[in-house]
Amino acid sequence: MTQPDDQERVIRRAVCPGSFDPVTNGHIDIISRASQLFDEVVVAVGVNKNKSRGRLFTAEERISMLEKVCADFPNVTVASFEGLLTTFCEERGIGAIVKGLRAVSDFDYELQMAQMNSSLVDVETVFIPTSPEYSFLASSLVKEVATFGGDVSSLVPADVLTLLTARLAERAREQDE
Ligand code: ADP
Repeated sequence: MTQPDDQERVIRRAVCPGSFDPVTNGHIDIISRASQLFDEVVVAVGVNKNKSRGRLFTAEERISMLEKVCADFPNVTVASFEGLLTTFCEERGIGAIVKGLRAVSDFDYELQMAQMNSSLVDVETVFIPTSPEYSFLASSLVKEVATFGGDVSSLVPADVLTLLTARLAERAREQDE
């Protein structure tokens, strides 16, 4: 039976922001855990035109990879944002930014960012400690190791590995030309 209060229940929304170039198992761990803490989670891919040349995958490709891996989580959607994350939060009624913390070295910058964001709009940052098996994992490192032929199959989803291998081979061919 529905209780009268149910209709007034606040929907708790969170965002997991990042560049996800490409999404790793460390990201998925955080997204999955956020999906258990919040009613709705938006995975937001930052699109910064000035940084796009340094990316291995286009924003569309990163979004498409994330949509595939997030399909298992019914309350998770994927979107992109340009400009301030806090504006994105305001526009969508999102009250929390979820960040994974890998090591103490992440903390200084993340704390500063969290304080800046909450000074701009009414938003909390929630830190989730990385599962130990992913504490060394970063997209940049995955790309670097894979470029030199290292086995990253346990660090990214299988579909991502296929795309990553293909893109790195393409890049290597371009460099040889
Ligand atoms: P950025 O380019 O903004 O550093 P990333 O796409 O690398 O973004 O990561 C997005 C967010 O995902 C990070 O801010 C961090 O909170 C989280 N994250 C990244 N890697 C991991 C990991 N191995 N374990 C847990 N969280 C992670």
